[in-house]
Amino acid sequence: MSAQLIDGKAVAKKVRAEAQARAAAFEQRHGRKPGLEVVLVGDDPASHVYVRNKEKASIEVGMRGVVHRVPADASEAKVIELVQRLNADPNVDGILVQLPLPKQIGADAVIAQIDAGKDVDGLTPLNAGLLALGRPGLRPCTPFGCMRLLDEIACRLEGKRAVVIGRSNLVGKPIAQMLLARNATVTMAHSRTADLGALVAEADVVVAAVGKRDLVRDAWVKPGAVVIDVGMNKNDAGKLCGDVEFEAAKERAGFITPVPGGVGPMTIAMLLNNTIDAAEARQR
Ligand code: NAP
Repeated sequence: MSAQLIDGKAVAKKVRAEAQARAAAFEQRHGRKPGLEVVLVGDDPASHVYVRNKEKASIEVGMRGVVHRVPADASEAKVIELVQRLNADPNVDGILVQLPLPKQIGADAVIAQIDAGKDVDGLTPLNAGLLALGRPGLRPCTPFGCMRLLDEIACRLEGKRAVVIGRSNLVGKPIAQMLLARNATVTMAHSRTADLGALVAEADVVVAAVGKRDLVRDAWVKPGAVVIDVGMNKNDAGKLCGDVEFEAAKERAGFITPVPGGVGPMTIAMLLNNTIDAAEARQR
Protein backbone atom coordinates (compact mmCIF):
# COMPACT_ATOMS: atom_id res chain seq x y z
CA MET A 1 0.00 0.00 0.00
CA SER A 2 1.29 3.45 -0.80
CA ALA A 3 0.64 6.34 1.57
CA GLN A 4 -1.50 9.30 0.70
CA LEU A 5 0.70 12.37 0.44
CA ILE A 6 -0.30 15.35 2.58
CA ASP A 7 -0.08 18.29 0.23
CA GLY A 8 1.24 21.16 2.35
CA LYS A 9 1.29 23.51 -0.61
CA ALA A 10 -2.43 23.06 -1.22
CA VAL A 11 -3.32 23.41 2.47
CA ALA A 12 -1.10 26.50 2.80
CA LYS A 13 -2.89 28.03 -0.18
CA LYS A 14 -6.22 27.45 1.56
CA VAL A 15 -4.94 29.01 4.82
CA ARG A 16 -3.64 32.04 2.88
CA ALA A 17 -7.00 32.44 1.15
CA GLU A 18 -8.72 32.38 4.56
CA ALA A 19 -6.28 35.00 5.85
CA GLN A 20 -6.93 37.15 2.78
CA ALA A 21 -10.71 37.07 3.28
CA ARG A 22 -10.35 37.87 6.99
CA ALA A 23 -7.86 40.69 6.27
CA ALA A 24 -10.32 42.27 3.80
CA ALA A 25 -13.16 42.03 6.32
CA PHE A 26 -10.89 43.48 9.03
CA GLU A 27 -9.96 46.45 6.83
CA GLN A 28 -13.59 47.13 6.00
CA ARG A 29 -14.57 47.04 9.67
CA HIS A 30 -11.65 48.97 11.13
CA GLY A 31 -10.42 51.18 8.29
CA ARG A 32 -6.88 49.83 8.35
CA LYS A 33 -5.04 46.71 7.25
CA PRO A 34 -3.82 44.20 9.84
CA GLY A 35 -0.07 44.71 10.20
CA LEU A 36 2.89 42.38 10.66
CA GLU A 37 6.25 43.93 11.58
CA VAL A 38 9.40 41.86 11.32
CA VAL A 39 12.65 42.73 13.08
CA LEU A 40 15.70 41.55 11.17
CA VAL A 41 19.09 42.02 12.82
CA GLY A 42 22.27 41.52 10.82
CA ASP A 43 23.22 40.02 7.49
CA ASP A 44 22.43 36.30 7.70
CA PRO A 45 21.55 35.51 4.05
CA ALA A 46 19.01 32.78 4.90
CA SER A 47 17.24 35.12 7.35
CA HIS A 48 17.04 37.79 4.66
CA VAL A 49 15.29 35.34 2.33
CA TYR A 50 12.87 34.15 5.05
CA VAL A 51 12.01 37.73 6.01
CA ARG A 52 11.44 38.80 2.42
CA ASN A 53 9.07 35.85 1.97
CA LYS A 54 7.14 36.83 5.11
CA GLU A 55 6.89 40.45 3.98
CA LYS A 56 5.73 39.40 0.50
CA ALA A 57 3.19 36.91 1.83
CA SER A 58 1.67 39.52 4.18
CA ILE A 59 1.27 42.04 1.39
CA GLU A 60 -0.18 39.41 -0.98
CA VAL A 61 -3.04 38.66 1.43
CA GLY A 62 -3.81 42.35 2.00
CA MET A 63 -1.94 42.97 5.24
CA ARG A 64 0.76 45.48 5.98
CA GLY A 65 4.16 43.78 5.97
CA VAL A 66 6.99 45.93 7.29
CA VAL A 67 10.61 44.90 7.88
CA HIS A 68 12.85 46.75 10.33
CA ARG A 69 16.44 46.10 9.30
CA VAL A 70 18.89 46.59 12.16
CA PRO A 71 22.70 46.54 11.76
CA ALA A 72 24.54 43.38 12.83
CA ASP A 73 26.46 45.23 15.58
CA ALA A 74 23.34 46.68 17.25
CA SER A 75 23.15 46.27 21.01
CA GLU A 76 20.53 44.18 22.79
CA ALA A 77 19.16 47.39 24.34
CA LYS A 78 18.62 48.89 20.86
CA VAL A 79 16.68 45.85 19.65
CA ILE A 80 14.59 45.79 22.83
CA GLU A 81 13.86 49.50 22.38
CA LEU A 82 12.56 48.77 18.86
CA VAL A 83 10.39 45.90 20.12
CA GLN A 84 8.95 48.18 22.82
CA ARG A 85 8.19 50.83 20.23
CA LEU A 86 6.30 48.26 18.15
CA ASN A 87 4.47 47.05 21.29
CA ALA A 88 3.21 50.59 21.84
CA ASP A 89 2.17 51.23 18.21
CA PRO A 90 -1.60 50.68 17.86
CA ASN A 91 -1.26 49.93 14.13
CA VAL A 92 1.04 46.97 14.77
CA ASP A 93 -0.79 43.67 15.27
CA GLY A 94 2.04 41.17 14.93
CA ILE A 95 5.72 41.37 15.89
CA LEU A 96 8.24 38.77 14.80
CA VAL A 97 11.92 38.86 15.67
CA GLN A 98 13.76 36.78 13.08
CA LEU A 99 16.12 34.23 14.64
CA PRO A 100 19.01 33.64 14.97
CA LEU A 101 20.20 36.93 16.44
CA PRO A 102 23.86 38.03 16.47
CA LYS A 103 25.93 36.76 19.43
CA GLN A 104 25.79 39.95 21.49
CA ILE A 105 21.97 39.83 21.64
CA GLY A 106 20.15 37.37 23.88
CA ALA A 107 17.20 35.92 21.96
CA ASP A 108 15.36 35.02 25.19
CA ALA A 109 15.74 38.56 26.54
CA VAL A 110 14.40 40.11 23.33
CA ILE A 111 11.52 37.66 22.84
CA ALA A 112 10.41 38.11 26.45
CA GLN A 113 9.84 41.80 25.65
CA ILE A 114 7.32 41.17 22.86
CA ASP A 115 3.74 41.98 23.86
CA ALA A 116 2.16 38.50 24.14
CA GLY A 117 -0.91 39.72 22.24
CA LYS A 118 1.34 40.62 19.27
CA ASP A 119 3.60 37.56 19.56
CA VAL A 120 2.63 35.95 16.24
CA ASP A 121 5.52 33.45 16.51
CA GLY A 122 4.03 32.18 19.80
CA LEU A 123 7.43 32.13 21.49
CA THR A 124 7.05 34.47 24.47
CA PRO A 125 7.07 32.82 27.91
CA LEU A 126 3.42 33.83 28.35
CA ASN A 127 2.22 32.17 25.15
CA ALA A 128 4.41 29.11 25.79
CA GLY A 129 2.89 28.91 29.28
CA LEU A 130 -0.67 29.26 27.97
CA LEU A 131 -0.02 26.38 25.56
CA ALA A 132 1.42 24.25 28.38
CA LEU A 133 -1.69 25.02 30.47
CA GLY A 134 -3.97 24.12 27.55
CA ARG A 135 -5.34 27.67 27.38
CA PRO A 136 -5.89 29.84 24.29
CA GLY A 137 -2.99 31.94 23.05
CA LEU A 138 -0.87 32.54 19.95
CA ARG A 139 0.79 29.30 18.86
CA PRO A 140 4.21 28.74 17.23
CA CYS A 141 3.67 28.64 13.48
CA THR A 142 5.37 25.40 12.40
CA PRO A 143 3.75 23.12 15.01
CA PHE A 144 0.43 24.90 14.50
CA GLY A 145 0.83 24.18 10.77
CA CYS A 146 1.44 20.49 11.53
CA MET A 147 -1.82 20.39 13.47
CA ARG A 148 -3.64 22.01 10.57
CA LEU A 149 -2.25 19.31 8.25
CA LEU A 150 -3.55 16.62 10.62
CA ASP A 151 -6.94 18.31 10.66
CA GLU A 152 -7.02 18.51 6.87
CA ILE A 153 -6.73 14.72 6.65
CA ALA A 154 -9.33 14.43 9.43
CA CYS A 155 -6.84 12.58 11.61
CA ARG A 156 -8.58 11.50 14.84
CA LEU A 157 -6.03 12.00 17.58
CA GLU A 158 -8.00 10.99 20.66
CA GLY A 159 -6.52 7.87 22.20
CA LYS A 160 -3.89 7.58 19.46
CA ARG A 161 -0.25 6.99 20.26
CA ALA A 162 1.92 9.85 19.03
CA VAL A 163 5.70 10.05 19.08
CA VAL A 164 7.35 13.45 18.68
CA ILE A 165 11.05 13.25 17.88
CA GLY A 166 12.83 16.47 18.91
CA ARG A 167 12.13 18.63 21.95
CA SER A 168 12.99 22.17 20.88
CA ASN A 169 10.93 25.09 22.16
CA LEU A 170 10.24 26.02 18.53
CA VAL A 171 8.84 22.72 17.27
CA GLY A 172 9.07 19.55 19.38
CA LYS A 173 7.71 20.76 22.73
CA PRO A 174 4.82 22.81 21.34
CA ILE A 175 3.65 20.10 18.97
CA ALA A 176 3.73 17.53 21.78
CA GLN A 177 1.57 19.85 23.88
CA MET A 178 -0.83 20.43 21.00
CA LEU A 179 -1.21 16.69 20.43
CA LEU A 180 -1.74 16.17 24.17
CA ALA A 181 -4.42 18.85 24.18
CA ARG A 182 -6.19 16.78 21.53
CA ASN A 183 -6.07 13.70 23.77
CA ALA A 184 -3.34 11.78 21.98
CA THR A 185 -1.02 9.74 24.21
CA VAL A 186 2.25 11.50 23.55
CA THR A 187 5.83 10.30 23.89
CA MET A 188 8.65 12.78 23.37
CA ALA A 189 11.94 11.49 22.03
CA HIS A 190 15.29 13.31 21.85
CA SER A 191 18.98 12.71 21.37
CA ARG A 192 19.27 10.63 24.57
CA THR A 193 16.25 8.44 23.87
CA ALA A 194 17.02 4.73 23.94
CA ASP A 195 15.62 2.54 21.15
CA LEU A 196 13.85 5.18 19.12
CA GLY A 197 12.87 2.52 16.59
CA ALA A 198 10.75 0.63 19.15
CA LEU A 199 8.88 3.83 20.06
CA VAL A 200 8.22 4.77 16.45
CA ALA A 201 7.04 1.24 15.67
CA GLU A 202 4.21 1.65 18.21
CA ALA A 203 3.11 5.08 17.02
CA ASP A 204 -0.06 5.91 15.12
CA VAL A 205 1.30 9.41 14.54
CA VAL A 206 4.99 10.24 14.14
CA VAL A 207 6.30 13.80 14.08
CA ALA A 208 9.99 14.04 13.19
CA ALA A 209 11.55 17.42 14.08
CA VAL A 210 15.27 16.82 14.38
CA GLY A 211 17.25 17.93 11.33
CA LYS A 212 18.99 14.63 10.50
CA ARG A 213 18.28 12.99 7.20
CA ASP A 214 17.14 9.37 7.23
CA LEU A 215 16.95 9.36 11.04
CA VAL A 216 13.53 7.69 10.90
CA ARG A 217 14.02 4.37 9.14
CA ASP A 218 11.25 3.15 6.92
CA ALA A 219 11.10 -0.22 8.68
CA TRP A 220 10.20 1.53 11.96
CA VAL A 221 7.00 3.04 10.60
CA LYS A 222 3.87 1.19 11.69
CA PRO A 223 1.76 0.27 8.66
CA GLY A 224 -0.93 2.91 8.20
CA ALA A 225 0.70 5.47 10.53
CA VAL A 226 0.53 9.22 9.88
CA VAL A 227 4.02 10.65 9.41
CA ILE A 228 4.70 14.39 9.67
CA ASP A 229 8.25 15.25 8.66
CA VAL A 230 9.35 18.68 9.88
CA GLY A 231 13.06 18.14 9.22
CA MET A 232 14.91 20.19 6.63
CA ASN A 233 18.16 18.66 5.40
CA LYS A 234 20.10 18.29 2.19
CA ASN A 235 20.66 14.95 0.45
CA ASP A 236 23.84 13.97 -1.46
CA ALA A 237 22.52 15.73 -4.55
CA GLY A 238 22.08 18.94 -2.52
CA LYS A 239 18.27 18.65 -2.63
CA LEU A 240 16.02 19.40 0.31
CA CYS A 241 14.93 16.31 2.27
CA GLY A 242 13.39 15.55 5.66
CA ASP A 243 14.24 13.33 8.63
CA VAL A 244 12.32 10.30 7.35
CA GLU A 245 13.44 7.70 4.78
CA PHE A 246 10.65 8.96 2.58
CA GLU A 247 10.66 6.71 -0.48
CA ALA A 248 10.39 3.50 1.53
CA ALA A 249 8.36 4.93 4.42
CA LYS A 250 5.63 6.05 2.04
CA GLU A 251 5.02 2.40 1.18
CA ARG A 252 4.18 1.68 4.84
CA ALA A 253 2.56 4.88 6.13
CA GLY A 254 -1.12 5.74 5.70
CA PHE A 255 -0.38 9.45 5.25
CA ILE A 256 2.96 11.18 4.94
CA THR A 257 4.22 14.72 4.31
CA PRO A 258 6.79 15.10 1.54
CA VAL A 259 9.84 17.34 1.90
CA PRO A 260 9.69 19.78 0.20
CA GLY A 261 5.98 20.54 -0.10
CA GLY A 262 4.74 19.25 3.26
CA VAL A 263 5.24 21.16 6.51
CA GLY A 264 7.49 23.85 4.97
CA PRO A 265 4.80 25.92 3.20
CA MET A 266 2.61 25.86 6.32
CA THR A 267 4.89 28.02 8.47
CA ILE A 268 4.31 31.33 6.68
CA ALA A 269 0.65 30.49 6.10
CA MET A 270 0.14 30.03 9.86
CA LEU A 271 2.05 33.26 10.52
CA LEU A 272 -0.55 35.09 8.43
CA ASN A 273 -3.30 33.25 10.28
CA ASN A 274 -1.77 34.28 13.63
CA THR A 275 -1.42 37.90 12.54
CA ILE A 276 -5.09 38.18 11.67
CA ASP A 277 -6.00 36.32 14.90
CA ALA A 278 -3.91 38.85 16.85
CA ALA A 279 -5.43 41.81 14.97
CA GLU A 280 -8.99 40.64 15.61
CA ALA A 281 -8.28 39.89 19.28
CA ARG A 282 -6.85 43.40 19.79
CA GLN A 283 -10.05 44.97 18.44
CA ARG A 284 -12.34 43.04 20.79
P1 NAP B 1 16.78 21.87 17.15
O1 NAP B 1 16.50 23.01 18.05
O2 NAP B 1 18.17 21.62 16.68
O3 NAP B 1 16.26 20.56 17.89
C1 NAP B 1 16.53 19.29 17.38
C2 NAP B 1 16.00 18.24 18.33
O4 NAP B 1 16.33 16.97 17.79
C3 NAP B 1 16.60 18.31 19.73
O5 NAP B 1 15.59 18.20 20.69
C4 NAP B 1 17.53 17.09 19.77
O6 NAP B 1 17.60 16.46 21.03
C5 NAP B 1 16.83 16.14 18.81
N1 NAP B 1 17.74 15.14 18.28
C6 NAP B 1 18.99 15.32 17.79
N2 NAP B 1 19.52 14.15 17.41
C7 NAP B 1 18.60 13.20 17.66
C8 NAP B 1 18.56 11.81 17.50
N3 NAP B 1 19.59 11.13 16.98
N4 NAP B 1 17.44 11.15 17.88
C9 NAP B 1 16.39 11.80 18.40
N5 NAP B 1 16.38 13.15 18.57
C10 NAP B 1 17.46 13.83 18.22
O7 NAP B 1 15.90 21.95 15.84
P2 NAP B 1 14.44 22.58 15.58
O8 NAP B 1 14.52 24.04 15.51
O9 NAP B 1 13.44 21.95 16.48
O10 NAP B 1 14.20 22.05 14.09
C11 NAP B 1 14.13 20.66 13.82
C12 NAP B 1 14.12 20.45 12.31
O11 NAP B 1 12.95 21.07 11.79
C13 NAP B 1 15.29 21.10 11.57
O12 NAP B 1 15.63 20.31 10.47
C14 NAP B 1 14.73 22.42 11.10
O13 NAP B 1 15.39 22.90 9.94
C15 NAP B 1 13.32 22.01 10.79
N6 NAP B 1 12.34 23.11 10.83
C16 NAP B 1 11.51 23.22 9.78
C17 NAP B 1 10.58 24.22 9.77
C18 NAP B 1 9.67 24.33 8.60
O14 NAP B 1 9.11 25.37 8.35
N7 NAP B 1 9.46 23.24 7.86
C19 NAP B 1 10.50 25.14 10.82
C20 NAP B 1 11.35 24.97 11.92
C21 NAP B 1 12.27 23.94 11.91
P3 NAP B 1 18.29 17.16 22.32
O15 NAP B 1 17.28 18.12 22.83
O16 NAP B 1 18.52 16.01 23.23
O17 NAP B 1 19.55 17.81 21.83
